[in-house]
Amino acid sequence: LKDELNKADRLSLVGQMAAGITHEIRNPMAVVRGFLQLMKEKSPSNLDNYYRIVMEELDRANGIINDFLSLAQSRSVNKEESQLDDIIQELSPLLWADANLRGQSIEMKFTEHLPSLHLNTKEMKQLILNLCRNGMEAMEEKGQLTIETREHLEGIELRITDTGPGIPASKRDKLFQPFFTTKTQGTGLGLALCLSIMERHNGKILVESEEGQGTTFIVLFHRPSSRNISVS
Ligand code: ADP
Ligand code: MG
Repeated sequence: LKDELNKADRLSLVGQMAAGITHEIRNPMAVVRGFLQLMKEKSPSNLDNYYRIVMEELDRANGIINDFLSLAQSRSVNKEESQLDDIIQELSPLLWADANLRGQSIEMKFTEHLPSLHLNTKEMKQLILNLCRNGMEAMEEKGQLTIETREHLEGIELRITDTGPGIPASKRDKLFQPFFTTKTQGTGLGLALCLSIMERHNGKILVESEEGQGTTFIVLFHRPSSRNISVS
């Protein structure tokens, strides 16, 4: 019951805030972006670097707003029969590029003939990217990220493991709260979004972490046949 109340509180607070900022912030940002594009065409090339930074920051702000809105969206999303491994494969060029830039490596372990799941592909990609990026951001150079799918009796499991510093026990229950971050450039919305995505997919997300050893985020999906009746 306590969890349900927390969930309701969280969603209504976030929802009210999100409704307030949607149009107010997105529209002027779109205008600024459009005029910047025009300015680039007319300005000397020594401004290229400034232009790039401004565009990146604008896109970053837009990304935060998008995460925030997805988080506030508590209604169910369209799902279709999909293969989890296919979704990971589609993301893998992006993940590899990210890991290469950081001097890190990725290992992927797929289970053959994994049953298909009812998934919203866009949300699944967001979830996987968020968990992988967190893993990479936690690791130094030479770190290794492992992405693994497994099947067992209750369902299908996606495990994302890093060789980073781990998460101290004192922080573990705050991880999924919106705006909890330990990073200077962080938004603290990534894991909150992952949690709400798994609530919409009738699944679970768990953390196993050992300080100094690394962290595993475990995403659990029920088998399509044994799925519970949807909770909100
Ligand atoms: P952000 O990445 O913007 O900080 P998140 O919601 O994605 O927000 O993560 C919240 C916090 O959880 C992070 O700031 C970090 O302290 C912690 N965290 C998440 N994933 C990991 C990980 N793999 N290893 C260590 N700490 C992590
Ligand atoms: Mg994050």
